[in-house]
Amino acid sequence: SSVRLRRERLRELDDIATAVEAFGAALAQISERTAELEREVAERQAAQAQLLELATTDSLTGLRNRRHFMATASQEFERARRYQTPLSLLMLDADHFKSINDRYGHPVGDEALKTLAEHGRRQLREIDLFARLGGEEFAILLPQTDFIAARAVAERLRQTIAEQPVATGQESFHFTVSIGVASLDAHTMDLHDLLRHADDALYQAKQHGRNRVEPTLALSR
Ligand code: GH3
Ligand code: MG
Ligand code: MG
Repeated sequence: SSVRLRRERLRELDDIATAVEAFGAALAQISERTAELEREVAERQAAQAQLLELATTDSLTGLRNRRHFMATASQEFERARRYQTPLSLLMLDADHFKSINDRYGHPVGDEALKTLAEHGRRQLREIDLFARLGGEEFAILLPQTDFIAARAVAERLRQTIAEQPVATGQESFHFTVSIGVASLDAHTMDLHDLLRHADDALYQAKQHGRNRVEPTLALSR
């Protein structure tokens, strides 16, 4: 009977060993599956970030697109109104761009727009919102920036862009931009007011000969 007892004990030990082995295998499977899920979550997050980037970015210049600009700018506008902080807007349009395309071809025109974006971006702060609204027209929202400061930014941008050579293969050429400036004041009710003021100023800059910033300091706004 002691032999039978020992045999039973051995079988129990055997069963325990089998159970421990199965448990270990299950644990390994769980941790493998956990790692797999973590990888999937990370991949999905990266894909989402990429989609968001695509949805808010202009593909030619890498700047923000019109939709993102409008959404973000209206938030900034409301914030500036509520906390009574300065806010300015620059509207920028490349001069005689049709003749640049006509002379050098559309791909070179595209290069000029990329140059504009790249060198413009270097002049701006992290908080400034630089967007391509479409075609050869751009907008820059400048939070915490009053009219005088915004005009200075616009003037620096205008000069920087005028100084950049654009390569064509054989030669290189320069092009210019006109810029309209508008700043938040007591009469500015919404973002569209601000956009309209900057647009009017841009129109003046074109009228007054291009490659310039309007309005001049005397006519503040
Ligand atoms: P202005 O000084 O009055 O602004 O003259 P402009 O020729 O720049 O103005 P207009 O509005 O007559 O023409 C805009 C030109 O910009 C025409 C169009 O072919 C060109 N353009 C718009 N978008 C792009 C683009 O993505 N790439 C290139 N290469 N050209 C573009
Ligand atoms: Mg133009
Ligand atoms: Mg235009």
